[in-house]
Amino acid sequence: MSVDPRESQPNPQGSRIDPYVGSYAARAQGMVASEVRALFAVASRPEVVSLAGGMPNISALPLEALGEITRRVVVEQGRAALQYGSAQGDPVLRQQICEVMGLEGIDANPDDVIVTVGSQQALDLVTRIFVDPGDVVLTEGPTYVTAINTFAAHQARIEHVLMDDDGVVPEALEERLVRLEKEGARVKFFYTVPTFNNPAGVTLTAGRRERVLEICDRFNLLVLEDNPYGLLRYEGEPVRALRADSPRNVIYLGSFSKILSPGFRIGYALAPPAVRDKLVLAAESAMLSHSSFNQAVVGRYLADQPWKEQVKDFNEMYRARRDALLSSLESLMPEGSSWTRPQGGFFVWATLPEGLDSKAMLPRAVNERVAYVPGTGFYSGGDGRRNMRLSFCYPTPEQIREGVRRLVGVLESEIAL
Ligand code: PMP
Repeated sequence: MSVDPRESQPNPQGSRIDPYVGSYAARAQGMVASEVRALFAVASRPEVVSLAGGMPNISALPLEALGEITRRVVVEQGRAALQYGSAQGDPVLRQQICEVMGLEGIDANPDDVIVTVGSQQALDLVTRIFVDPGDVVLTEGPTYVTAINTFAAHQARIEHVLMDDDGVVPEALEERLVRLEKEGARVKFFYTVPTFNNPAGVTLTAGRRERVLEICDRFNLLVLEDNPYGLLRYEGEPVRALRADSPRNVIYLGSFSKILSPGFRIGYALAPPAVRDKLVLAAESAMLSHSSFNQAVVGRYLADQPWKEQVKDFNEMYRARRDALLSSLESLMPEGSSWTRPQGGFFVWATLPEGLDSKAMLPRAVNERVAYVPGTGFYSGGDGRRNMRLSFCYPTPEQIREGVRRLVGVLESEIAL
């Protein structure tokens, strides 16, 4: 069908009429811009303290060393690194990924690893191979906004399971599974960010990890464990990944975005062999092969650089920022509010005094030069109005303290209304 290009010009009100509106697949109807993304434009203005975005602070990265690694990859490995690769990913990097996962208790075979374009692509591929329209995906409530968007894009029915300061509540998970089983629903997997949850900042306790695995095993339910923040711990004892204790039932996702850089777009999935085979086929049709070049650079970085020391440096920087946020909240937040106290990761989840609405309040906050993400973005059904996600990864401790002062000013004037 030919389309008059003038039809897609902005109309006098500035909106675009989409000439293809009747042509999109049903699955595209569920694709809507996330609140986080819409916010980035406003929050990136220099005068705004952004407690909104989750961008890692890569200012401490050794850029000279990365430059030299990149040069050597071109000069010494160029014939392979500038050629097509496989959809499963470079075997050398997959071996190194097994060593990284070993730090969280996982004993993996590189054959079962698939490299992905960030862990985000792994989320999409897993959903693509498992979810038909109307199938149920269980997640914590709240949960990672782009996972919600991915599940919605595949027309999943998203059900949130109660989470508290110790992570998802096993009894709530079990009750939900009983109800869904009675209903005859097709439940495909339980998606969880058990360590330093995005957005809640909480970590599933060791006791609950055992319970969750036992329940999912009993219901024959796959667990999709998303763990991009596990190595960013600022206090407390490390926890074992769920995958460490349940190789059969868990698909595990990891990423170099937070421990190195999101710009390489290198993540990975570790899956039982049959699932891995499907994921590789799905990856092939999605993108043919990975960037051989980025994989080679990341592989050399892991081999030649003291990357664990680098992660320690990141952790010191993030710890100071988390402490600045928590102590400012402690001294300034109005009565009736509460918040989580993360031991790692990037996020604090705040609950506002009764009657306040974080979404309605946002334009006013941005006017006062502070931004956050309203809690509603992290639920599929509109919950979370009294909540907000505050991230401490990017602004300096001083900026964070100033941001909280501005935010509390807005809260107090809302309370006074
Ligand atoms: N999962 C979670 C919980 C995240 O917070 C993020 C990044 N914000 C991702 C997955 C995707 O990360 P990436 O694609 O950069 O690996």
